[in-house]
Amino acid sequence: MIVNSHFGNVKETYLFSEIAKRVSDFKAQNSGADVIRLGIGDATQPLPEVCIKAMHEAVEEMAYPETFRGYGPEQGYDFLRQAISEYDYKARGCDIEADEIFVSDGAKSDTANFTDLFGKGNIIGISNPVYPVYLDSNIMAGHSGAENQGSYENIVFLDCLPENGLKPAIPDKHLDIVYLCSPNNPTGVTLSHEDLKAWVDYALEHKTLILFDAAYEAFVTDPSIPRSIYEIPGAKKVAVEFRSFSKTAGFTGTRCGYTVVPKSLEIAVSNGNKPLHLHSMWLRRQTTKFNGVSYIVQKGAAAIYSEAGRHQIKKAIDIYLSNAKAIRKAFEEKGYQVWGGDNSPYIWLKVPEGKTSWEFFDYLLNTYHIVGTPGSGFGTRGEGFFRLTGFGSPQKTKEAVNRILKGLL
Ligand code: PLP
Repeated sequence: MIVNSHFGNVKETYLFSEIAKRVSDFKAQNSGADVIRLGIGDATQPLPEVCIKAMHEAVEEMAYPETFRGYGPEQGYDFLRQAISEYDYKARGCDIEADEIFVSDGAKSDTANFTDLFGKGNIIGISNPVYPVYLDSNIMAGHSGAENQGSYENIVFLDCLPENGLKPAIPDKHLDIVYLCSPNNPTGVTLSHEDLKAWVDYALEHKTLILFDAAYEAFVTDPSIPRSIYEIPGAKKVAVEFRSFSKTAGFTGTRCGYTVVPKSLEIAVSNGNKPLHLHSMWLRRQTTKFNGVSYIVQKGAAAIYSEAGRHQIKKAIDIYLSNAKAIRKAFEEKGYQVWGGDNSPYIWLKVPEGKTSWEFFDYLLNTYHIVGTPGSGFGTRGEGFFRLTGFGSPQKTKEAVNRILKGLL
């Protein structure tokens, strides 16, 4: 058998296993230490009550022949697609129809699976630091081209550095595809209307496909910050948007998200004799390789669009945001340079001069018994930075903040 040799080019990631090892070694040597995890990238608040109720009812429906459901539509039940179109888009002035929405088991699979639609030889823009799935899925698919000491033939890394506000700058060269993520994981930075307009204008000019990851849009509270790329005129011609119920409604384990592929996308190519459009290609891809999200889970997801549902998800998000704000403030007071923690659950900080991300990890763990995530795990430009999150419990976060502010345990 000939295997996909591109897998050999994917870098091993020891980030989370190394964190787990260092924490367990520390605990073994410091029994009784109250270690607080502020590196969590997972929801910790329980599912909203409306979701639990809707899922219980859906399970009950499965018990009777009249209401039992087997295979559903691969692209999602109409009740959920309609609710998404109405509340996430039309209510915010974005003209996205239900049949442009593809319900899935989450944004990780969709961002990675979308590479099925790319041919060979595209030049792909990827931020550095970055949510690693964009890069690794392209390497696995053979789209990155040959590697040379961390650079790839077909990947243009868009460095996100303090001097550009940690935002990906528009390159002076052509990109066929670009990944943008706002609010950003790992930096917590959001892209403004002007930032996104500049990218959409670039994409219209260069016929670039924008893959916009809005997994954290629900954390945006500032009304001037776009929650969807479709708030920008022209975006429906150039952009696909990925969204997730994971952090919005605590579905990290329950699994549900969706991808918007507008029918008006002009980034359409031809295989020589037949025009191909991304909307129909994605539909074909999903109906061939995916059998849909369970009815029970989709019922749970649809429940968040009720009045009570919207109130309940806001409560959980407010908890995460207030944790993030408190962490940001504590490090600012201690003189650190900090990004995010505002309109985002992530806080990104510059580690003190002369320390690496991992050295700072050890310092925080040994001095304050606090665990975070070294920035170097998100790309070479993450070295010298550190990620913390607001996803911990309010009590533990408060305790951690007190430790930082007092400078002692
Ligand atoms: N996109 C970004 C930027 C993320 O940080 C994450 C999860 O951490 C995902 C996508 C994955 O979301 P999902 O749980 O829907 O697969």
